[in-house]
Parts: sequence; C-alpha cells; structure tokens
Amino acid sequence: MKMLLAGSWVDRDKTIEVRDPFDDSVVDTVPRATAADVETALAAALGGFEIARRMTVYDRAQVLLKTAAIVQGRLEEFATTIAREGSKTIREARKEARRCVNTLTISAEEAKRISGETIPFDSFPGGEQRVGYYQRVPIGVVLAITPFNDPLNLVAHKLGPAIAGGNAVVLKPATATPLSALRLTEAFLEAGLPPLVLQTLTGHGAEIGDALVADPRVRMISFTGGLEAGQRITRLAGIKKIGMELGSNSPVIVWRDADVRWAAETCVSGAFWAAGQNCIGVQRIYVHEEVYEAFRRGTVEFTARYKVGDKMKEDTDMGPMISAGEAKRVERWVADALHAGARVLAGGGRSGALMQPTVLENVPESATIHREEVFGPTVNLYPVATVEEALAKANSLPFGLHAAVFSRDVDTAFKLASGLDCGGVMINDSTDYRLDSMPFGGIKNSGLGREGVKFSLQEMTEPKVISFYLPTI
Ligand code: NAP
Repeated sequence: MKMLLAGSWVDRDKTIEVRDPFDDSVVDTVPRATAADVETALAAALGGFEIARRMTVYDRAQVLLKTAAIVQGRLEEFATTIAREGSKTIREARKEARRCVNTLTISAEEAKRISGETIPFDSFPGGEQRVGYYQRVPIGVVLAITPFNDPLNLVAHKLGPAIAGGNAVVLKPATATPLSALRLTEAFLEAGLPPLVLQTLTGHGAEIGDALVADPRVRMISFTGGLEAGQRITRLAGIKKIGMELGSNSPVIVWRDADVRWAAETCVSGAFWAAGQNCIGVQRIYVHEEVYEAFRRGTVEFTARYKVGDKMKEDTDMGPMISAGEAKRVERWVADALHAGARVLAGGGRSGALMQPTVLENVPESATIHREEVFGPTVNLYPVATVEEALAKANSLPFGLHAAVFSRDVDTAFKLASGLDCGGVMINDSTDYRLDSMPFGGIKNSGLGREGVKFSLQEMTEPKVISFYLPTI
C-alpha cells in the first residue's frame, strides 16, 4: 500500500514488508518514510489545520459517521486485514473492527458536545462590567503514534477525537501492522475528509520518530505503546501536550466469596486475548487461599480448551505472537521463572511465534515475569489470606492501568476497588474489559492523561477565554 503524504498517496523506493507472523508470508509492503517525508508532512499539516479548524462541527461529525459506515460496510475486509498483519484471530479481529465503528460513532456524537461555560466575572472585585465565557478550541497538529496490538481501533481512538475536535493529524502506525491504519485513512478520505487534515506516514519509529516528536509544529503527541519509547518521547517532546497510554502488569483479586468458575473462565480469556498482547491483559491473579485450589483447577481446565494456531480458522482461540523473537522472549522469561522455583500448571511450550497459553504458580517476586509487563500469553497465580495482603501485593509494582476484583460481597468489592491504585477497576469482569466511551488510561508508569473519546477530546482541545468589558452596562 502507499502512504498518505501532503494530500497524495505516495510510494518510496525503500519499502517495508508487512509479514503475517503465523506463516511469515508477505501480506503487503509499505513505504519507508524518511526525514524529508517528515518535513513535508509537518509543513502540510499546518495547512491541514487551517482547513480542519474551519470545518463546522456538523461537517466533522458527518465525516466521522460516514467513515464509521464505510468500516461497518467492509467489516470483513477490515477484520481480515487486522488478522493477517497482526496476532489476532479472525474472531478477535471482527470484534476490533466492530469496536472501531463504535469509536468513530462516539467521536461524531461527542463532536457535538464540545462546549464551554459562561464565567461569572463579577464574582470578585475587579470583574465588574465584564461578561465572558470560554470555549474549547482545537489544539493544532496532533501527532498520533500507535502500537501493533490493536492496529485499527487504537488508531480510531486517536483519529476520531482529533478530527472531532478540529485538529490536523499526522499518524505514525506501528511498523509491524500499518495496513489497518492505511485502510482506515482511505475510508476517511472516501467519507470526505479533506486530505491535508490527515496524513499517515509509514516508517520505523527509530528512524523518523525523533524528528516528528521534537518538532514544535506538533502541538500534541498522543502516544500508545511501550514504556521505553514513551520515556524517550517524553524527554524529546519539548513544550507540547503529551498523552501517554503505556503498558501495565494487571492484577486481579479473586475473593473467597467469588463465583470461582466465572472468575477462572473470564480471567483465562483476559490473559490470552490477542495472545496476551493486550495492555490490560491479566498478568497476576491473587486468589483467596480458601478458593485457591478450585480457581487453579478452573484456570487449568479453561486453558486446556484453548485452540492455538491458524488465525484465519473460525475455531482458533489464540494466534501467534507478533514475531518469533517476541515468543522466544516470553519463553525465556518462563524458563527463568521456572529456574527460580516457579511451577508450570499449563502450557509453557513454543513453536515459532506460537507460544502456548501458560499458567504459572509459585513465581518468585524477583522474577522478570512477575515484575515486568509480559505482553504475552502467560498468567501467574498466587494465594493470599487477607484484604491487606492482596492490596499490598496488587499495588506493589510501578504500573496502574486496570485491576479486577471478583467478589459477591459489595463491601469487600468496594474496599478492594477503593484500595487498588490504577486507572480502572472491573468488578466481576477481567481487567481487559473496556468500553470505548469510558475514561481509559493509567497512573504510575502506565501513562499520562486519559483516552475514551470524550476524555481524549478534552486533551485534544484547549479552553479559550473571551471577556467583554462593557463600560456602558
Ligand atoms: P512500541 O514498541 O513502544 O511502539 C509503539 C509505537 O511507537 C510504534 O508505532 C513504534 O514505531 C513507535 N516508536 C518506537 N520508538 C519510537 C520513537 N523513538 N519515537 C517515536 N515513535 C516510536 O510498542 P508496541 O510493541 O508496538 O506495543 C506494545 C506496547 O504498547 C505495550 O507496552 C502495551 O502495553 C502498550 N499498549 C498500551 C495501550 C494503552 O492504551 N495503555 C494499548 C495498547 C498497547 P515502530 O513500530 O516503527 O517501532
């Protein structure tokens, strides 16, 4: 595919192969953007912003609704692209494509709710004879950088609100999975978005990232990805807004009064969705000692049912990781944990990029697979005895995106939810439950700011105060 630069679809001599991680076949190629392309894009983006800020809210909402309708009409095509270029099974990919339709639809709705307030200037001496208000105005050029694991809907979570807010966007999708983003870009143009308002540059973050991030023409960076890249971007950004959606190591607490089978079933799904490559995937499960055996049995049973393999088959539950290299990394982390005393309850093996869904117990707290974000299909079980112990252990790491609690007792659920340090707590659902309209984001090393369309729109617009001094009234 070509990339969209300064209003035209362009090729480059140097290209990047997009490979299917299941069989290593080449799905397509994309241009490898250069520093010169970055300069062209940013210069054009300023023109794009002048167009975007003058679009009426009605027009922005119409474009978003039409784009949503195009994605809906080609759902299977989008799902196939997601599944071919990335890790997701075709069923997981369909769900992502449907969520993308929601995200764009919510963006159209929220575009109509960007409002300000009147300001009671006369509430303090010195404000007499003044009336005024603030409105929310677009921020300018938004740089959107997205990861490989949700190659369509996480792109929609940036483009939708940025366009709803009247901004221009330069998008840099993940090199492993740029095709879904390019198809969504095509859909936006087909829906009538003026071409300069959106540009999609394909290329390596390591090659073009710094020039994009450090440029003062960019007024906001909306980044979703890993901590390492996030830290580099934060250091280089200079004076501009930064939204950071980073990784985590999500804890679950299963209490003695929980529906243990439901907890096991949904936690297994939450741990192995997208082969565990999910920022809110379940990684650590703290189980009350009285129900530990029952929960462990259920977890092993549901894991054993998982069909791993060809992503395009309807009955496959889990596909490969994004690369054989990533699967080897997870295999190594499992081996290190075993060496340090952990036990494998299910899985543990690897073949190419396919890592078996793996359940571990007795994992020492010094193990990498306990401390770091695994971003792979493994989950650790730990018995706990008290609420205080569960909270201390769940909160012990420098991440805080989502957590989950399983309990039938509202007092226990409330106490645990209040005590968990994170951006969201799911009660009786796995950590990976997300609705596209809810505020989404993390604390500590999991991020800065919130997404979820309404909340992204706040980040992607700024208040502007208008005050009238009216000496004659
Ligand atoms: P990544 O390696 O950090 O890459 C994310 C994006 O950043 C890619 O487009 C990448 O480009 C780009 N990038 C890398 N280095 C850059 C630089 N120096 N300057 C500018 N851009 C740069 O992450 P990933 O492996 O794709 O995704 C996995 C991570 O994303 C996990 O940690 C996961 O938890 C996190 N994540 C968070 C959320 C959330 O909402 N909180 C959602 C999904 C994923 P290249 O592909 O060209 O390297």
